[in-house]
Amino acid sequence: MLVFKFGGASVKDANGLVNLANVVKRYEGSQLLIVVSAMGKTTNALEKLTKAYVNHEDDRDVIFEDIKKYHYAIIEQLFEPSHSIFDEVANTFVEIDWIIEDEPQDDYNFIYDQIVSIGELVSTRIVNAYLNKTGVKSHWLDVRGYIHTDNTYREGVVQWDKTSTSINQDIPGFLQKGIVVTQGFLGGTSENFTTTLGREGSDYTASIFASCLGAESVTTWKDVPGILNADPKFFSDTIKFDELSYTEAIEMTYYGASVIHPKTIKPLQNAKIPLLVKPFSHPDAPGTIIKEDGVNLFVKPIIILKQNQLLLSISAKDYSFISENHLSEIFALFAKNQVKINMMQTSALSFTVCLDLYEERFKKLLHELGQNFKAKYNENLSLITLRHYSSASLKELTDGKTILLEQISRNTVQLVVKM
Ligand code: ASP
Ligand code: MG
Repeated sequence: MLVFKFGGASVKDANGLVNLANVVKRYEGSQLLIVVSAMGKTTNALEKLTKAYVNHEDDRDVIFEDIKKYHYAIIEQLFEPSHSIFDEVANTFVEIDWIIEDEPQDDYNFIYDQIVSIGELVSTRIVNAYLNKTGVKSHWLDVRGYIHTDNTYREGVVQWDKTSTSINQDIPGFLQKGIVVTQGFLGGTSENFTTTLGREGSDYTASIFASCLGAESVTTWKDVPGILNADPKFFSDTIKFDELSYTEAIEMTYYGASVIHPKTIKPLQNAKIPLLVKPFSHPDAPGTIIKEDGVNLFVKPIIILKQNQLLLSISAKDYSFISENHLSEIFALFAKNQVKINMMQTSALSFTVCLDLYEERFKKLLHELGQNFKAKYNENLSLITLRHYSSASLKELTDGKTILLEQISRNTVQLVVKM
């Protein structure tokens, strides 16, 4: 069996859905499970809605209306007005109405997952209905009954044994009857609450299904020709890799290459399932294949850019040296507040870390650090990671930039810069 993942960009408009159906039809006769993300930028919009709801902001209803309008505009182009999808979509969005008519009381991350998950619940309803309409027999699956997680909201930890048992109980039977369409990014807790697996987590969902079902391969369909050495939005003259090893792909995603979610590769590597990254608009093109014996040809270095970074410098209130005791206290606070460290460095009097800026989590962390430490920070920075670099490529990249922090190892350079 095969697992396909279609990201938000692939299902951002009516044309995308038409193309999705065409891609799927090329694989007629194969057993196929399709993982779909929220349409276009819906997850960002739902994040905004969650914030607006929790903070009692005025534009809450406008944000929600826009999200609905965007989806209705797409289905109006694809279905006749009497089609049941209109009710299905309305019934899915109404879950948000139920949440926001009450005062926000629960934990922010919990509310976030209950609202943001609607993006995938709606997109998969639409994809499923559209496939059926075009004659592809497909079955809508609520992933929350199959991918079981703990209750770490926004970062659900997958309970693999339970997940594998549930998946293997039902999915092989469903696949015999037609295509299975399900939500990326979501999971369910033992109390039947919705969790999410971390932003851009749909790739990980595809990998979970593939590894539990022993798929032949996973294909993620993207709006790029395959895995490139750098993001073409920021760098020119990029090159595509035909092949990569699992290990190199893991390293790339670890440093922030956004082409694949970082948790995706390991389960596939363990189960020896290749991952194909293919262009959605040219389904015949080979794309990139990631596999155990993938040959890494670094004609150009890999450049990974992470924007919106923050450099946080922590020192003891009494100006004492940064000790192991301090560090263990600091790390415990990072872990507790789910703040991930992208790069770190210690000096005698301070411990410096580079972070993604997640406002809510950062505020809490700062507050808690403030009890025993002094903390200073710098915003609007970028973290550049260069793998398999040469001195020429390093010079080209750093010319004219202010470097605030730098770490160099044999294969990898990391730089925090002000652009
Ligand atoms: N829709 C989710 C997000 O945008 C998950 C995904 O796209 O993979 O983060
Ligand atoms: Mg997305």
